[in-house]
Amino acid sequence: PTRVPCPLRSAALASPDAEAVVGPGWAISYGELDRRVSASERGMGDLGIQPGGRVALYLPKSLDYLVLLLALMRAGLVACPVSTRLPAAAVAPLLEEAGCSVLVSADEDLRGATDEIPVVDPDVLLADGAGYEGPPGPLDVSLARPATIVFTSGSTGIPKAALHTFGNHYYSALGSNDNIRLRPGDRWLHSLPPYHVGGLSIIFRCLLAGAAVALPGPEATIGGSIPDLRVTHVSLVSTQLLRLLREDADLSGLEAVLMGGGPIDPTLVDGASELSIPVHTSYGLTEMASQVTATPPGAPLKRLYTAGRVLAHREVRVSEDGEILVRGETLFSGYVRDGRPDLPLDGEGWFHTGDLGELDAEGYLRVAGRRDNLFVSGGENVQPEEVEEALCRIEGVEEAVVVPVPDGEFGARPVAFVRTNGEAGDLAPELGKTLPRFKIPVAFHDWEGTGGMKPDRPALRRRAETLNPVSP
Ligand code: AMP
Repeated sequence: PTRVPCPLRSAALASPDAEAVVGPGWAISYGELDRRVSASERGMGDLGIQPGGRVALYLPKSLDYLVLLLALMRAGLVACPVSTRLPAAAVAPLLEEAGCSVLVSADEDLRGATDEIPVVDPDVLLADGAGYEGPPGPLDVSLARPATIVFTSGSTGIPKAALHTFGNHYYSALGSNDNIRLRPGDRWLHSLPPYHVGGLSIIFRCLLAGAAVALPGPEATIGGSIPDLRVTHVSLVSTQLLRLLREDADLSGLEAVLMGGGPIDPTLVDGASELSIPVHTSYGLTEMASQVTATPPGAPLKRLYTAGRVLAHREVRVSEDGEILVRGETLFSGYVRDGRPDLPLDGEGWFHTGDLGELDAEGYLRVAGRRDNLFVSGGENVQPEEVEEALCRIEGVEEAVVVPVPDGEFGARPVAFVRTNGEAGDLAPELGKTLPRFKIPVAFHDWEGTGGMKPDRPALRRRAETLNPVSP
């Protein structure tokens, strides 16, 4: 098809009273959400932006955020969620790169952050929809319509602005819901930032399934929100799972825990499976509108050490030199540079992810790590992620990053930054049990960790070079 029914409108027509968004002590039905989105959509018209125009959102995660996001998309505008972790000064260059005409924010610091781009208060665009008579009827949307711009986490330099169509998100959600069952009455905790594709995809999956997005309270932990909001589904990155396992929370209502966003520590998978937590591992990237592969429900432990199998509406293969290539309905329209999308593909339409990996005979993917992180030490390849995984398997180690430092004799040698619980013993001998000598870091430094973000490897490399001057 080239057009499909608007998922929000369809849910509002089919079950107007079903829960769409829930929070601590409140719930909004699909009928109400559709009403608010329609009312706000009319406000969008007053912005005077041409269809396809780009509107940045710099707001905390909230019901208003969801309404604005969906209203922008329904108004035929492109929503550009911007990280609220970024200081005001860092926002302007991103907006220019993405070609945004307006910034929606209530943050005083952002007024005057850019001379060219006007800042609009979210309240101006929100309306309660009072006096609006229910959903007026079916509505359909073109799959090819540009819908969002997401800035990639930029583990390698400046964030890139990835443009997705409505169809990318639609098929992403469809393939995910095919694998992890999601139904009306289910509640998916909005546990990731809305400015990452993982956070956005939670919303689209719920809309398509008629399930509810559960918005955690501002101070709530994940372990607290799960029983409080009667959550059935949650998306987590490794660090969040580590914290959740420590919280000793009541997780009995959980039907699925989707792990992704980066390497998944296998000891956490062990920990979760001992507690019968229904984990799904996955591999995904912004450019593919979230998951590419994921494990099915009830997968045995050995499968959970992989990133799962390809989901519907995407394709994956590994090139002869070990790189993971992807394509399909969820593949983005390109990186926006100076306002226009640029899509780098090879002759057969594959997007080269920059990740190295292997597919086994049953189609399960193993991700080795990023090609840019690979380095050579004394003629041997070292993939830092392999050493990091081995470190994380050691009792007491919570997070580790390995980077190369220049070395007079070996060219480069590995150095580790490690966050422990204070009780980890001697690391080198432990690693020696599973890794060859050249992969064992020559130094281990205490480290504060990333706080759940992707590690800033270039910064750690510089730190490693200062701490470990080149031996002559
Ligand atoms: P982002 O676009 O910011 O979501 O980051 C996507 C990147 O995260 C991928 O290109 C991989 O480098 C990494 N990644 C995602 N899932 C996994 C996984 N299961 N194992 C290892 N790395 C992963």
